[in-house]
Amino acid sequence: MTSERSSVDEILARLQSYEGYKSARVGAESGNHLIGLDSNENYFADAESIRKMARKAVQCDLRIYPREEMIELREKLGSWLQVEPESVVLANGEDQVIDLAAAVLSKEGSAVSVSPTYSMYRLRLELIGAKLIQVPLRKDFSLDVERLLSVAGESRASMMFLCSPNNPTANQFSEASIVQILNGFRGLVILDEAYAEFADCSVVPLVREYSRLAVMRTFSKAFGIAGARLGYMVANPQLSKVFAEKAQLPYPIGRFTARLGIECLRNLKAMQDSVSEMKQERSWLIDHLRRVEGIRVFDSQANFVLVCTGRNSSRFSARLQSLGILVRDFSDMLGFRGCLRVTVGTRSMSEKFLDALEEVMRDEQL
Ligand code: PMP
Repeated sequence: MTSERSSVDEILARLQSYEGYKSARVGAESGNHLIGLDSNENYFADAESIRKMARKAVQCDLRIYPREEMIELREKLGSWLQVEPESVVLANGEDQVIDLAAAVLSKEGSAVSVSPTYSMYRLRLELIGAKLIQVPLRKDFSLDVERLLSVAGESRASMMFLCSPNNPTANQFSEASIVQILNGFRGLVILDEAYAEFADCSVVPLVREYSRLAVMRTFSKAFGIAGARLGYMVANPQLSKVFAEKAQLPYPIGRFTARLGIECLRNLKAMQDSVSEMKQERSWLIDHLRRVEGIRVFDSQANFVLVCTGRNSSRFSARLQSLGILVRDFSDMLGFRGCLRVTVGTRSMSEKFLDALEEVMRDEQL
């Protein structure tokens, strides 16, 4: 009894000391009246047409595990992305693909990534006891390929996580730099393309050529169904087959979610329309942010922008929140002071954000 208790205590103590993922919405008093520009959700996807697709998708016998619809969804994704269906591994959101990679890495392993980047790679690896070594991006947010390769070699890393377009810097890495990494690194390159539909290109076609490349993607962003939790990995069929058969859960997504994914792919135009609309609003927002004195905003190939305020970003984001706007605080990074990541919302959301931003900027005490 005593030893049982102490091992539970150990588990609890280890989990208590673990950093965990902190959403800006946790602790925000009843989020309903707040404008959520903190999670890169897609406000341009048409909620009513998603509801319509969901009503159709739910017309299935939920007593039965998902089988045929998982096959059909992989086929549909395969034909959209021009890869074999066997290349696709479905997952409960893209975050769950990160967990799969962590499980495959094992706790003895180490991986390399850049900094700043999506925090989940480090958090999920640390949870299983594995290590993530982070190499800073260059000041122009490009990859320091030489340093990445030398750190990866010295640390005998077996995986590299890259996010392109990168969260939070919003830039896409050049295909040439990804190819350089693929040619110089012997381990598995896991490329996070959560925001690729908002950018100019994708490296998915490279999976045919490079068997050490796995691309992770999601329906949460461009397709606008973050609430349904649907993500996937695309890699060479041999790799994907082992991931799907040995590491992935037998039924990682529900029948309903799989059928909703199929509906989204039948309706690609709706996704493309929402992406075009977002891009227009992104340009409008960047243009207006550039007119605010003291604010620096970087180019974006995602559905968010990175803003450098030059102030204390934690106090800045708290003030924005008191004015009804939630953004994500990234503190100081790569020499830029007071960085905030802001989702591109509808015009009225952006106008309210700009008003609030200007009000906070006027406060010289901050
Ligand atoms: N990768 C990146 C870079 C992200 O920003 C996010 C969402 N915040 C994810 C993955 C997770 O996506 P999903 O909703 O599919 O789990």
